Amino acid sequence: MAIQKTHAIIIKTQPFRSTSLIVTFFTRDFGKIRGLVKGVRQAGETRGALYELFTLVEIVYYEKTRSDLHLISEAFLLESYPSLHSRLESIAYASYFSELADQLSEVHDPHENIFSLLDFCFRYLASLSGRRIARLFEIKLLNEIGWLPYLDRCLGCSNPHLEEGFFSPRQGALLCPACAGRYSDAFRIQRETLAAIRYYARHDLEMSSRFLVKTSAGAELETMMDRFFLERISRPLKSKVFLKKLKPAFSQL
Ligand SMILES: [Zn+2]
Repeated sequence: MAIQKTHAIIIKTQPFRSTSLIVTFFTRDFGKIRGLVKGVRQAGETRGALYELFTLVEIVYYEKTRSDLHLISEAFLLESYPSLHSRLESIAYASYFSELADQLSEVHDPHENIFSLLDFCFRYLASLSGRRIARLFEIKLLNEIGWLPYLDRCLGCSNPHLEEGFFSPRQGALLCPACAGRYSDAFRIQRETLAAIRYYARHDLEMSSRFLVKTSAGAELETMMDRFFLERISRPLKSKVFLKKLKPAFSQL
């Protein structure tokens, strides 16, 4: 059993037996991993605070070779993202980012960019609107895993000069007006929506977070992403359903 040490963001926790915890981490060096923390839920135990959801820790663990469940030996708190934890809206968005990262990644598949993306979005949930960060998170995550919709040219006729057009969630691709009729699920997307996706895909997180998207384009991008994910994940994410229920309570941003 090799001993590993890395920075890790806690994206999921579940009780295991009467006193232990299974934690899903997105690590900086090893991608997503799952670890068992023994005895952390027993009376008088103080380590529990180290395994709070949506915190950044340094972990030391024994890597199991015959199982995907490793044995966590130590954790040190590096960042608790305090402003994230103080608002229900931020917690709801952090849940969504974590569930999406969990669903779209495999264990032991290193993606330092996904680790950095989670860290960045958790920090910025305090100062930027959740909806805006959510779209940025989705595009960056899809880009990193190679799932970003095909938007360079029309899927049907390869026309490369499209500034607006139609989008087919099933195909995950852009279509020109002439070709869109052949795809029953295609719907129109405006110029600003397409421009936002292209900008996010081509610029770093800092630049992308400063890019302003019109409200109508932001709403259209959300619909586009929801329908695209439904085609690929096949069921709505629990955290996304929760966000939709909460939405009327959030201030318009
Ligand atoms: Zn076409």
